Amino acid sequence: MSVSDEIVAEAGTGNTVKVKFWIDNWCNGKRFKERFPGLFKIARNKQVKVAKCVTKLENENQWNLGWVRPPNSDAEWAQWWNMLYLPNNVRFKPESDTWMWKLNNNGEFTVAAIPKQIVKEDVLETADEWKHWNSWIPPKVNYFTWRAAIERIPVKKELIKRRIPIDNQLCLRCEEEEESADHVICGCIRSKPIWKSILVWLKVPTYTQFERCTDVLEHVTSLSGSKEWKKVINTVLQTTMWNLWKARNEMEFKGNIRSGNNIVENIMADSFIWLKSKSKIQNIVWERWVDFNIRDIVK
Ligand SMILES: [Zn+2]
Repeated sequence: MSVSDEIVAEAGTGNTVKVKFWIDNWCNGKRFKERFPGLFKIARNKQVKVAKCVTKLENENQWNLGWVRPPNSDAEWAQWWNMLYLPNNVRFKPESDTWMWKLNNNGEFTVAAIPKQIVKEDVLETADEWKHWNSWIPPKVNYFTWRAAIERIPVKKELIKRRIPIDNQLCLRCEEEEESADHVICGCIRSKPIWKSILVWLKVPTYTQFERCTDVLEHVTSLSGSKEWKKVINTVLQTTMWNLWKARNEMEFKGNIRSGNNIVENIMADSFIWLKSKSKIQNIVWERWVDFNIRDIVK
C-alpha cells in the first residue's frame, strides 16, 4: 500500500499560512530540514512556504520543490526515495489554519497520524525481511536492488505517480517506452543485450528473458548448483542491476551513453572486487574471473 495515495491534507490559505516547508515542524516528528538534510542542502528555496510549493490542479495538487541540482550521492538518493512518501494531496480550506489528514475515507486523523503510518510501512518493507540480501556486495547495492524490486526508485513512472512534475516520461536510453524500474533494469533494448552477455559469461542458460526486477533475483533459485555458487551468481546479477541503474543515471544527468561492452566490463570488475574483499573465494584471479572459470574454487 502507498500511504501517500490515501492522504488528504487541509490547510488554511491567505495570510494565515506561514508554515515553511523545510523549516517548520508541520508534519509532526522531525522537520523536513532534519529528516532530509541532504535534500535540504540542494533545495533551491529553503524558506519556501508549504502553500507555495503546492500547485492546485482539479482535484489534486502537485508538489513543486525546486532543486539546485539532482541528487547525486547515496544519502541524497535515499532521502529522495523516502520523500516520495510525502503527502501529495493537499487541499486548502479557507480561513482555517489546521492541518488534517484523511486515511481511506474512513475518517480524519490529525497530522500526527502520518509519520506513524510511514514508519509502519517502512517496517513492512524492512531489509531484514528481504531474502535476497547478499553480504558480499555493498549495502548501497543491496538497498538499491531491494528498492527496485518494490518499485521504489525514482524512475519517471514513479515520480509521475507521486505528482512530481517532469517533462518527459520516456526512458532516455531508448526513447520508446515509459520509464519504470522494470523497464530500466530489464525491458529496455539497451539492457537486454547486457543480460544476454552476462548470462553467457556466467555459463548459465541464455534463453532467459527477465521481465521484472524480481525475476532477476528469483532466477538464482531456479538454477541448480551449490549454495556458494548461487551466491556468486546472485552477486553478479545484483551488480548488473546496479550498473544498469548507474548507466541510466549517467544518461539522465550527464547525457552520456555508455556502450554495452563498457557496462559489462564494469559489472565484471565491480563483482570481482566485491568478491575479493568479502567472499570466501578471495583467491580468484582476474584471468579466471573473466572466463568465469570458478567451478573448482567454489564448492
Ligand atoms: Zn528504454
